[in-house]
Amino acid sequence: MVYLGLIKDEALKNNIPIMHDDTLAYLVTLISEHGLNNILEIGSATGYSSIYLASHTKALITTIEKDRERYEQALKNIKESNLIARINIIHADALSLELTDSFDLIIIDAAKTKHQLFFNHFLPNLSEKGYIMTDNLGLGCTKGKPLTKNRQRLIDKTNEYITFLSNNLAFETEFLNLGDQISISKRK
Ligand code: SAH
Ligand code: MG
Repeated sequence: MVYLGLIKDEALKNNIPIMHDDTLAYLVTLISEHGLNNILEIGSATGYSSIYLASHTKALITTIEKDRERYEQALKNIKESNLIARINIIHADALSLELTDSFDLIIIDAAKTKHQLFFNHFLPNLSEKGYIMTDNLGLGCTKGKPLTKNRQRLIDKTNEYITFLSNNLAFETEFLNLGDQISISKRK
């Protein structure tokens, strides 16, 4: 797994907010224990999380990235990791993409203010036994910094999403203190 380490270091060096190791370890356990086969990830960046999950599980992963440069880097990293048969990367804005496949796990790891939009957009693609995981519910990034309009919006949007999940009667949601704070929602 030398290559995975290089992708991680490169991402950290370029300030790309990759998923934390404890979050990835949690997902590997979830995927293995529940036999989740088909995964959708929104927000590939340079492919670190998708390559990590494909390397540690047997799952098939579809991952979406809207930024061209990051998409190209991710594609290169996936090919060089010999995982192109198990990771399908799509260059698109996830919100303008309609997929027909069904997924056992949907990972929301893109724009922090759009969690709820992604949740609703891909809900029709969630399988019966499916889970939706959302990364970056933490607000650590706003602490000790001046409260600009953007930061306030980020705080409001995050709280709105947490309320949306907590009040969503179709799902049972757990909030976990892992990495940058995550939620895991399962259909009731
Ligand atoms: N999952 C990655 C990190 C993703 S960072 C990892 O752990 O390795 C978030 C990424 O989401 C960024 O690269 C950003 O370009 C992408 N993104 C943001 N909004 C998006 C959208 N609407 N559709 C697709 N990708 C999006
Ligand atoms: Mg993240």
